[in-house]
Amino acid sequence: TTPRGVPLRIQNLRKEFGGITAVADASFQVEAGSLTGLIGPNGAGKSTTFNCIAGVHRPTSGKVFFQGEDITGLRPEQVANKGLVRTFQIAREMEDMTVLENMMLAPRGQVGESLFNSVVPGIPAPRFLDDSQRQRWERVVPQGRRAVTRQEEDLRERAWETLEFFEIDHLAGEYAGSLSGGQRKLLEMARVLMTDPEMVLLDEPLAGVNPTLEKKLLKRVHDLREEGLTFLLVEHDMDVIMNNCEHIIVMHQGTVLAEGEADDIRNDDRVIDAYLGE
Ligand code: ADP
Ligand code: MG
Repeated sequence: TTPRGVPLRIQNLRKEFGGITAVADASFQVEAGSLTGLIGPNGAGKSTTFNCIAGVHRPTSGKVFFQGEDITGLRPEQVANKGLVRTFQIAREMEDMTVLENMMLAPRGQVGESLFNSVVPGIPAPRFLDDSQRQRWERVVPQGRRAVTRQEEDLRERAWETLEFFEIDHLAGEYAGSLSGGQRKLLEMARVLMTDPEMVLLDEPLAGVNPTLEKKLLKRVHDLREEGLTFLLVEHDMDVIMNNCEHIIVMHQGTVLAEGEADDIRNDDRVIDAYLGE
Protein backbone atom coordinates (compact mmCIF):
# COMPACT_ATOMS: atom_id res chain seq x y z
CA THR A 1 0.00 0.00 0.00
CA THR A 2 0.91 3.66 -0.31
CA PRO A 3 0.75 6.46 2.29
CA ARG A 4 -2.06 8.97 1.86
CA GLY A 5 0.27 11.79 0.82
CA VAL A 6 1.40 9.79 -2.21
CA PRO A 7 -1.43 9.51 -4.73
CA LEU A 8 0.58 7.78 -7.43
CA ARG A 9 3.29 5.17 -7.11
CA ILE A 10 4.69 2.94 -9.81
CA GLN A 11 6.77 -0.01 -8.82
CA ASN A 12 9.13 -1.92 -11.14
CA LEU A 13 6.98 -1.01 -14.09
CA ARG A 14 7.91 -2.84 -17.26
CA LYS A 15 6.46 -2.73 -20.74
CA GLU A 16 7.75 -4.73 -23.65
CA PHE A 17 6.52 -4.48 -27.22
CA GLY A 18 7.67 -7.64 -28.97
CA GLY A 19 11.43 -7.48 -28.59
CA ILE A 20 11.53 -3.82 -27.53
CA THR A 21 11.66 -2.92 -23.85
CA ALA A 22 10.04 0.52 -23.69
CA VAL A 23 9.91 0.70 -19.89
CA ALA A 24 12.47 -1.31 -17.95
CA ASP A 25 11.45 -1.71 -14.29
CA ALA A 26 10.86 1.97 -13.55
CA SER A 27 9.83 3.03 -10.04
CA PHE A 28 8.80 6.46 -8.79
CA GLN A 29 6.10 8.21 -6.82
CA VAL A 30 4.26 11.49 -7.05
CA GLU A 31 3.49 13.57 -3.94
CA ALA A 32 -0.02 14.87 -3.27
CA GLY A 33 -0.64 18.36 -4.56
CA SER A 34 2.60 18.46 -6.53
CA LEU A 35 3.31 19.42 -10.08
CA THR A 36 5.74 16.67 -10.96
CA GLY A 37 7.55 16.63 -14.28
CA LEU A 38 8.59 13.55 -16.23
CA ILE A 39 11.29 14.24 -18.79
CA GLY A 40 13.83 12.35 -20.82
CA PRO A 41 15.23 12.19 -24.33
CA ASN A 42 13.18 10.79 -27.21
CA GLY A 43 12.42 7.12 -26.73
CA ALA A 44 13.13 7.22 -22.98
CA GLY A 45 9.79 5.56 -22.24
CA LYS A 46 7.81 8.58 -20.99
CA SER A 47 4.70 8.08 -23.10
CA THR A 48 4.67 4.34 -22.50
CA THR A 49 4.90 4.91 -18.74
CA PHE A 50 2.12 7.46 -18.99
CA ASN A 51 -0.03 5.03 -20.96
CA CYS A 52 0.59 2.23 -18.48
CA ILE A 53 -0.54 4.53 -15.65
CA ALA A 54 -3.62 5.69 -17.56
CA GLY A 55 -4.66 2.15 -18.49
CA VAL A 56 -4.00 2.49 -22.22
CA HIS A 57 -1.30 -0.19 -22.05
CA ARG A 58 -1.29 -3.17 -19.74
CA PRO A 59 2.18 -3.39 -18.18
CA THR A 60 4.22 -6.52 -18.88
CA SER A 61 5.07 -6.55 -15.16
CA GLY A 62 5.17 -4.21 -12.19
CA LYS A 63 2.46 -2.30 -10.38
CA VAL A 64 0.64 1.01 -10.47
CA PHE A 65 -0.91 2.25 -7.22
CA PHE A 66 -3.31 5.17 -6.99
CA GLN A 67 -4.21 6.40 -3.53
CA GLY A 68 -3.03 3.15 -2.07
CA GLU A 69 -5.05 0.99 -4.44
CA ASP A 70 -3.56 -1.34 -7.00
CA ILE A 71 -4.92 -0.11 -10.33
CA THR A 72 -2.58 -2.11 -12.57
CA GLY A 73 -4.30 -3.26 -15.74
CA LEU A 74 -7.54 -1.30 -15.29
CA ARG A 75 -9.07 0.19 -18.42
CA PRO A 76 -8.75 3.96 -19.05
CA GLU A 77 -12.34 4.73 -18.01
CA GLN A 78 -11.92 2.66 -14.84
CA VAL A 79 -8.74 4.56 -13.98
CA ALA A 80 -10.52 7.85 -14.76
CA ASN A 81 -13.41 6.97 -12.49
CA LYS A 82 -10.93 6.54 -9.63
CA GLY A 83 -10.01 10.21 -10.11
CA LEU A 84 -6.81 9.72 -12.14
CA VAL A 85 -7.50 11.30 -15.50
CA ARG A 86 -5.42 11.93 -18.57
CA THR A 87 -6.24 14.46 -21.22
CA PHE A 88 -7.81 12.78 -24.20
CA GLN A 89 -7.84 14.07 -27.72
CA ILE A 90 -11.03 15.32 -29.27
CA ALA A 91 -12.28 12.42 -31.36
CA ARG A 92 -13.63 12.79 -34.89
CA GLU A 93 -17.26 12.52 -33.76
CA MET A 94 -16.72 15.25 -31.19
CA GLU A 95 -15.42 17.67 -33.80
CA ASP A 96 -18.95 17.93 -35.15
CA MET A 97 -20.23 18.94 -31.73
CA THR A 98 -19.92 22.29 -30.06
CA VAL A 99 -17.41 23.10 -27.37
CA LEU A 100 -20.18 23.11 -24.77
CA GLU A 101 -21.51 19.76 -25.97
CA ASN A 102 -18.01 18.35 -25.66
CA MET A 103 -17.84 19.58 -22.09
CA MET A 104 -21.10 17.90 -21.22
CA LEU A 105 -19.90 14.50 -22.33
CA ALA A 106 -17.56 14.22 -19.36
CA PRO A 107 -19.71 14.36 -16.23
CA ARG A 108 -17.98 13.89 -12.91
CA GLY A 109 -17.60 10.35 -11.67
CA GLN A 110 -19.12 8.81 -14.78
CA VAL A 111 -16.46 8.85 -17.42
CA GLY A 112 -17.77 6.49 -20.03
CA GLU A 113 -15.82 4.57 -22.60
CA SER A 114 -17.19 7.24 -24.91
CA LEU A 115 -14.34 9.63 -24.26
CA PHE A 116 -11.86 6.99 -25.22
CA ASN A 117 -13.73 5.03 -27.85
CA SER A 118 -15.75 7.77 -29.52
CA VAL A 119 -19.15 6.33 -28.64
CA VAL A 120 -21.30 9.02 -27.13
CA PRO A 121 -23.37 8.19 -24.04
CA GLY A 122 -27.07 8.89 -23.70
CA ILE A 123 -27.12 12.48 -22.57
CA PRO A 124 -30.21 14.39 -23.70
CA ALA A 125 -29.91 17.32 -26.05
CA PRO A 126 -29.49 20.50 -24.03
CA ARG A 127 -32.38 22.94 -24.52
CA PHE A 128 -30.22 25.74 -25.81
CA LEU A 129 -29.22 23.90 -28.98
CA ASP A 130 -30.57 25.26 -32.23
CA ASP A 131 -32.33 22.91 -34.64
CA SER A 132 -29.32 21.82 -36.61
CA GLN A 133 -27.26 21.30 -33.44
CA ARG A 134 -30.11 19.27 -31.98
CA GLN A 135 -30.26 17.09 -35.07
CA ARG A 136 -26.56 16.42 -34.82
CA TRP A 137 -26.89 15.69 -31.13
CA GLU A 138 -29.67 13.21 -31.68
CA ARG A 139 -27.69 11.53 -34.40
CA VAL A 140 -24.69 10.93 -32.14
CA VAL A 141 -26.64 10.52 -28.89
CA PRO A 142 -29.07 7.75 -29.84
CA GLN A 143 -30.42 7.10 -26.34
CA GLY A 144 -31.09 10.75 -25.57
CA ARG A 145 -33.99 11.30 -23.16
CA ARG A 146 -36.01 14.50 -23.61
CA ALA A 147 -36.45 15.82 -20.09
CA VAL A 148 -33.78 18.12 -18.72
CA THR A 149 -33.11 17.16 -15.13
CA ARG A 150 -31.67 19.17 -12.29
CA GLN A 151 -28.48 17.14 -12.63
CA GLU A 152 -28.12 18.17 -16.25
CA GLU A 153 -28.69 21.81 -15.39
CA ASP A 154 -25.91 21.55 -12.81
CA LEU A 155 -23.69 19.86 -15.33
CA ARG A 156 -24.24 22.66 -17.81
CA GLU A 157 -23.49 25.29 -15.20
CA ARG A 158 -20.31 23.50 -14.28
CA ALA A 159 -19.36 23.31 -17.97
CA TRP A 160 -19.82 27.09 -18.32
CA GLU A 161 -17.79 27.83 -15.20
CA THR A 162 -15.00 25.61 -16.42
CA LEU A 163 -15.00 27.21 -19.87
CA GLU A 164 -14.81 30.62 -18.19
CA PHE A 165 -11.92 29.45 -16.04
CA PHE A 166 -10.00 28.59 -19.21
CA GLU A 167 -11.25 31.74 -20.92
CA ILE A 168 -12.82 29.82 -23.79
CA ASP A 169 -16.46 30.45 -22.86
CA HIS A 170 -16.78 32.70 -25.91
CA LEU A 171 -16.17 29.55 -28.00
CA ALA A 172 -18.96 27.54 -26.33
CA GLY A 173 -21.12 27.47 -29.47
CA GLU A 174 -18.31 26.78 -31.94
CA TYR A 175 -17.71 23.36 -33.42
CA ALA A 176 -14.82 21.70 -31.62
CA GLY A 177 -13.39 20.88 -35.05
CA SER A 178 -13.00 24.57 -35.86
CA LEU A 179 -10.74 25.37 -32.88
CA SER A 180 -7.06 26.23 -33.26
CA GLY A 181 -4.48 23.78 -31.91
CA GLY A 182 -4.02 25.81 -28.75
CA GLN A 183 -7.75 26.23 -28.16
CA ARG A 184 -8.16 22.47 -28.50
CA LYS A 185 -5.57 21.94 -25.79
CA LEU A 186 -7.50 24.28 -23.51
CA LEU A 187 -10.71 22.40 -24.26
CA GLU A 188 -9.01 19.09 -23.55
CA MET A 189 -7.88 20.42 -20.16
CA ALA A 190 -11.31 21.87 -19.46
CA ARG A 191 -12.96 18.55 -20.28
CA VAL A 192 -10.67 16.73 -17.88
CA LEU A 193 -11.83 19.04 -15.09
CA MET A 194 -15.44 18.09 -15.79
CA THR A 195 -14.59 14.63 -14.42
CA ASP A 196 -13.65 16.18 -11.06
CA PRO A 197 -10.24 14.50 -10.94
CA GLU A 198 -7.86 14.10 -8.01
CA MET A 199 -4.88 13.80 -10.28
CA VAL A 200 -4.32 14.81 -13.89
CA LEU A 201 -1.85 13.27 -16.33
CA LEU A 202 -0.66 15.61 -19.07
CA ASP A 203 1.35 14.26 -22.02
CA GLU A 204 2.96 17.14 -23.88
CA PRO A 205 0.03 19.51 -23.28
CA LEU A 206 1.93 22.42 -24.81
CA ALA A 207 2.85 20.85 -28.14
CA GLY A 208 1.75 23.26 -30.85
CA VAL A 209 0.50 25.86 -28.38
CA ASN A 210 1.48 29.50 -28.92
CA PRO A 211 3.36 31.33 -26.12
CA THR A 212 0.30 33.31 -24.95
CA LEU A 213 -1.86 30.22 -24.59
CA GLU A 214 1.06 28.31 -23.10
CA LYS A 215 1.32 30.88 -20.30
CA LYS A 216 -2.42 30.74 -19.76
CA LEU A 217 -2.48 26.96 -19.60
CA LEU A 218 0.41 26.78 -17.16
CA LYS A 219 -1.18 29.46 -15.00
CA ARG A 220 -4.35 27.38 -14.82
CA VAL A 221 -2.35 24.29 -13.88
CA HIS A 222 -0.75 26.24 -11.02
CA ASP A 223 -4.15 27.58 -9.89
CA LEU A 224 -5.60 24.07 -9.81
CA ARG A 225 -2.61 22.71 -7.95
CA GLU A 226 -3.20 25.33 -5.28
CA GLU A 227 -6.71 23.94 -4.96
CA GLY A 228 -5.18 20.53 -4.21
CA LEU A 229 -4.98 18.78 -7.56
CA THR A 230 -1.92 16.71 -8.34
CA PHE A 231 -0.29 16.83 -11.78
CA LEU A 232 2.14 14.63 -13.63
CA LEU A 233 3.42 16.49 -16.65
CA VAL A 234 5.22 14.62 -19.41
CA GLU A 235 7.11 17.04 -21.58
CA HIS A 236 9.96 16.98 -24.05
CA ASP A 237 10.75 20.67 -23.46
CA MET A 238 13.17 20.76 -20.53
CA ASP A 239 12.71 24.48 -19.87
CA VAL A 240 8.97 24.16 -19.32
CA ILE A 241 9.59 21.43 -16.76
CA MET A 242 12.47 23.25 -15.06
CA ASN A 243 10.46 26.45 -14.70
CA ASN A 244 7.23 24.90 -13.49
CA CYS A 245 7.78 21.63 -11.65
CA GLU A 246 8.99 21.35 -8.08
CA HIS A 247 9.88 17.72 -8.54
CA ILE A 248 11.37 16.24 -11.69
CA ILE A 249 11.83 12.64 -12.70
CA VAL A 250 14.22 11.92 -15.55
CA MET A 251 13.79 8.76 -17.57
CA HIS A 252 16.38 7.28 -19.87
CA GLN A 253 16.27 3.93 -21.66
CA GLY A 254 13.12 2.92 -19.83
CA THR A 255 14.35 3.53 -16.30
CA VAL A 256 14.52 6.43 -13.85
CA LEU A 257 17.92 8.04 -14.31
CA ALA A 258 17.60 10.87 -11.79
CA GLU A 259 15.06 12.64 -9.57
CA GLY A 260 15.00 15.94 -7.73
CA GLU A 261 14.45 19.69 -7.96
CA ALA A 262 15.32 21.66 -11.06
CA ASP A 263 18.76 22.64 -9.73
CA ASP A 264 19.66 19.03 -8.94
CA ILE A 265 18.62 17.91 -12.40
CA ARG A 266 20.29 20.78 -14.20
CA ASN A 267 23.63 19.93 -12.62
CA ASP A 268 23.41 16.18 -12.97
CA ASP A 269 26.09 14.94 -15.37
CA ARG A 270 24.15 11.74 -16.12
CA VAL A 271 21.17 13.79 -17.26
CA ILE A 272 23.30 16.00 -19.46
CA ASP A 273 24.99 12.94 -20.98
CA ALA A 274 21.63 11.28 -21.66
CA TYR A 275 20.37 14.33 -23.54
CA LEU A 276 23.62 14.88 -25.41
CA GLY A 277 23.58 11.25 -26.53
CA GLU A 278 20.17 11.78 -28.12
P1 ADP B 1 9.12 8.79 -25.15
O1 ADP B 1 7.70 9.15 -24.92
O2 ADP B 1 9.98 9.01 -23.94
O3 ADP B 1 9.72 9.44 -26.35
P2 ADP B 1 8.10 6.14 -25.76
O4 ADP B 1 7.49 5.63 -24.50
O5 ADP B 1 7.19 6.68 -26.78
O6 ADP B 1 9.23 7.20 -25.40
O7 ADP B 1 8.95 4.99 -26.43
C1 ADP B 1 9.90 4.20 -25.74
C2 ADP B 1 10.43 3.12 -26.66
O8 ADP B 1 9.40 2.17 -26.92
C3 ADP B 1 10.88 3.62 -28.01
O9 ADP B 1 11.99 2.87 -28.42
C4 ADP B 1 9.69 3.36 -28.90
O10 ADP B 1 10.09 3.17 -30.24
C5 ADP B 1 9.14 2.08 -28.31
N1 ADP B 1 7.68 1.96 -28.45
C6 ADP B 1 6.75 2.81 -27.93
N2 ADP B 1 5.51 2.41 -28.25
C7 ADP B 1 5.65 1.28 -28.99
C8 ADP B 1 4.74 0.37 -29.64
N3 ADP B 1 3.41 0.55 -29.56
N4 ADP B 1 5.26 -0.67 -30.30
C9 ADP B 1 6.59 -0.86 -30.39
N5 ADP B 1 7.51 -0.06 -29.81
C10 ADP B 1 7.05 1.01 -29.12
MG1 MG C 1 6.42 10.54 -25.87
